Amino acid sequence: MTPFDTVLVVDWSGGNDTGPRETSDAIWTAVVRGAEEEAPLYHQNRLKAESWIAEFLASEMAEGHRLLAGFDFAFGFPTGIAKKITGSDDPLTLWDWFARELDDGPKGNNRFELAARINGLFPGTGPFWFNGTKTEFPGLPRRRADRSAEYDTDLRRETEARASGTFTCWQMGGAGAVGGQAFTGMATLARLRAAFAGRLSVWPFEAPDTEIVFAEVYPSLLRDQVRATLATGPDQIKDAVQVRLLARALARLGAEGRLGAAFSAAQGPSDEGWILGVGVEERLQVAARPDIRPPRLKDDCFALPPGVDWVPVDDALERLRGALSPVVDQETIPVAEASGRILAKDHIAQRSNPPLPNSAVDGYGFAHSATGAGPQLLPLVPGRAAAGAVFQGTVPEGRAIRILTGASLPDGVDTVVLEEDVTLSDGHVAFDGPVKPGANTRRAGEDVTKGDVALASGHAIRPPDMALLSALGLGQATVFGRLRVGVLSTGDELAEPGTPDDPSRVYDANRPMLLSLVRGWGYAETDLGIARDTRDTVRKALDDAASRCDAILTSGGASAGDEDHISAILRDEGKVQTWRIALKPGRPLMLGQWNGVPVFGMPGNPVAALVCALIFARPALSVLAGGRWEQPDLITVPAAFTKRKKAGRREYLRARLDTNGHAEVFASEGSGRISGLSWATGLVELDDGARDIEPGDPVRFIPYAALGLV
Ligand code: AMP
Ligand code: MG
Repeated sequence: MTPFDTVLVVDWSGGNDTGPRETSDAIWTAVVRGAEEEAPLYHQNRLKAESWIAEFLASEMAEGHRLLAGFDFAFGFPTGIAKKITGSDDPLTLWDWFARELDDGPKGNNRFELAARINGLFPGTGPFWFNGTKTEFPGLPRRRADRSAEYDTDLRRETEARASGTFTCWQMGGAGAVGGQAFTGMATLARLRAAFAGRLSVWPFEAPDTEIVFAEVYPSLLRDQVRATLATGPDQIKDAVQVRLLARALARLGAEGRLGAAFSAAQGPSDEGWILGVGVEERLQVAARPDIRPPRLKDDCFALPPGVDWVPVDDALERLRGALSPVVDQETIPVAEASGRILAKDHIAQRSNPPLPNSAVDGYGFAHSATGAGPQLLPLVPGRAAAGAVFQGTVPEGRAIRILTGASLPDGVDTVVLEEDVTLSDGHVAFDGPVKPGANTRRAGEDVTKGDVALASGHAIRPPDMALLSALGLGQATVFGRLRVGVLSTGDELAEPGTPDDPSRVYDANRPMLLSLVRGWGYAETDLGIARDTRDTVRKALDDAASRCDAILTSGGASAGDEDHISAILRDEGKVQTWRIALKPGRPLMLGQWNGVPVFGMPGNPVAALVCALIFARPALSVLAGGRWEQPDLITVPAAFTKRKKAGRREYLRARLDTNGHAEVFASEGSGRISGLSWATGLVELDDGARDIEPGDPVRFIPYAALGLV
């Protein structure tokens, strides 16, 4: 069905003018346009409400919006009643009857008289009752008990029977009564319907395919949600909360494409109407929940315990790991489009692989029990079994059938002999026994059994995983949205690569490197450009970044120098922790938050920036994206170099494997030597302790590929 742009919910009232002060028992309206919720409005009487609604409908139509309007009174009476009153089966004729007959005003109306008149059409006394005035209306009993016995049976609409707590419309006044609301409501809607004729439909009497759709609603379907909301603060008016939550719930059902189910839940006699939401109560209640989420990061999540000064790399990683959790939403997408995405839940095999026992080869199938040692000669049955063409009959014991790879084993077949091992003649197959029972067959579920976890939550999907999910009957995958990672360079000295050479400036080398790293890790990268070294530009850049990214990588300006604006502004206006990590290369790593979005402040030096990004940002971003804490696969190889290493810090050397598979390292460890990054195919990782390395000693080599460098 065409979605609605706007949802209006009206809490109607059959009572008289309630004055200008906002109260319950008046008319309340709530509007949700798209995902935008407007504050509920108070209308002190029906006249004012009707003209407000008419204007609202007109302005929504002028905007080209499609609108769903819900009203909390019965759109009809139990089946047959409308016909009794108007002579017509069409309940909308009854609406027009009320519009004609009801004399309504802010201070009162003739509803008791009308109820008495309708009662006159029915035998005995009833069905309407209650009289709040001094005047007697012949035929309208004051008390329920005064009705004729035939009206004691619960005469209600099917939808009222299904929605718990509904009042019937027979009671014309008093606590909880809805009779007066229905009379005045139907009269009002009849006028609105006439005013928007051709562009408005009344569901379920008419198909809900016009620009404006009226539907009956019942806010008490959300009574638990309303109660919970009222419990959060004293100054809330129940009616206002009801319309607000119901409008939200209906708008959200629409956005989720579930309103169709709510509309098709209508049942029962076609002249009674139906409460929109009855039949899908649970969905409606879920959709009424507030759209809030926990804060992404704890305020102090990056704080180190007091007294910690230089942090060993492993401790730093452990702390980072503990501080972070996913910040992305989930979505369900076709498996074929899920490459690189991270599974947001365990994915369960929908069928076994293989689903049925089948043949692993092209050959001849038979029952093993009828064969033995020595030459075997079996007559063939006509036909064959092929993949996708199941052999329907049974193969009798002592006979064989032609079978192809992947074909399900026909009844009577448990063993297959390879076609290369047989001789065929005159409808017989001959081969040498004994053949092992079950030879050349695959058991059902021998690979994966239906119901097993095929791939667990947090797994990043690679091409082989797409084969597995597809084979197990999973066409859709529930995955995390792509983490949006922004990359910002900072520094007055930086020039855009490709611009004319000015030897006093430094080309921005980090941004293309980091952007490409982010892309290779499967995230959505955002180029945030270069921020010059002023507080204002840095602030603007961070504001912009935080509004459209889930995480921010910066480089440069991360120390405590005069021009280190990133750390200064984060310290003064955001949140920042500077971690001095016992690591070479790498100056302090800055971890902060700007408007709740994590900021990873990388050193400016490209060599240090790369190492910090690979060692710290990579696993951290993976967790933010819903994935696992990534630990690179490393290999131990003989060193092809000599080195004396001091104790007290972790070192990463730019390295590659020589033709013997030994790790050689770049000639200079200088952190300005960008060429070494390109020369290398990975990093040699040296532990925190002191070490004298001689050629041939084992060292740990982490290939770039294992760090997701592509
Ligand atoms: P900083 O961390 O800002 O003190 O920078 C440390 C060193 O890295 C300085 O020599 C900077 O010029 C250099 N640098 C900073 N950002 C970049 C960048 N994006 N590309 C290349 N070099 C940079
Ligand atoms: Mg700088």
